[in-house]
Amino acid sequence: MDENILKLKKLVSESSNIVFFGGAGVSTESGIPDFRSEQGIYNTVKNFGYPPEQILSHSFFMKNPEKFYDFYRSTMIYENAKPNLAHLRLAKLEKQGKLKAIVTQNIDGLHQLAGSKTVYELHGSIHRNYCMKCGKFYPLSTITESKGVPQCKECGGTIKPDVVLYEEGLDEEIINNSIKAIKKADMLIVGGTSLNVYPAASFVNYYDGNKLILINKSKTPYDRYADLLIHDSIGKVFNEIIE
Ligand SMILES: [Zn+2]
Repeated sequence: MDENILKLKKLVSESSNIVFFGGAGVSTESGIPDFRSEQGIYNTVKNFGYPPEQILSHSFFMKNPEKFYDFYRSTMIYENAKPNLAHLRLAKLEKQGKLKAIVTQNIDGLHQLAGSKTVYELHGSIHRNYCMKCGKFYPLSTITESKGVPQCKECGGTIKPDVVLYEEGLDEEIINNSIKAIKKADMLIVGGTSLNVYPAASFVNYYDGNKLILINKSKTPYDRYADLLIHDSIGKVFNEIIE
């Protein structure tokens, strides 16, 4: 076994309050493309007439919900995606009482599908959708089984995915819970994120311990702060350190 993997395995066995902070790279191994890499949505999706960042903005949703849903249904929802080894091993680590929280930038719900209980979804979830008029919640199937702009069965209002769009702020309670968990953690594992985009990097700053683990295929601006740095696939690493 690789020396860094052995080191990580030992550190995990010595820790009792682990927090995992994850990004798109956690889900790419489940077949969900990320945004900014070469194979990512921002580079591969070009036929919608507007840049993805614009379509996924609050003002665009309000002005042009039909076009938003065209894009959203075809590029943001992966209904058949299954949790991969990273999701499954993290759920196991929580069951063992070692992992206390997952903070994720992903909106796919795969951590919960793998069995994880304490998951702070910074950017919301495709599995929650709500009526903008009366607040009634709807499951993902309401979006996938409808055409055009989905409407509330109760009041006819427009249904919006509970995902954070550009121009929208993050949920304060989720931010606070995430920060609290990271501050208390004896070990912070950051995985599958390039840490280039706000607010990812700012969360890592709240960690005060000496076991900051960075697992990412490519380099990140935080590499030099890591107590242990592993440039590899996150699923593979977790599979090797957790039986
Ligand atoms: Zn309604």
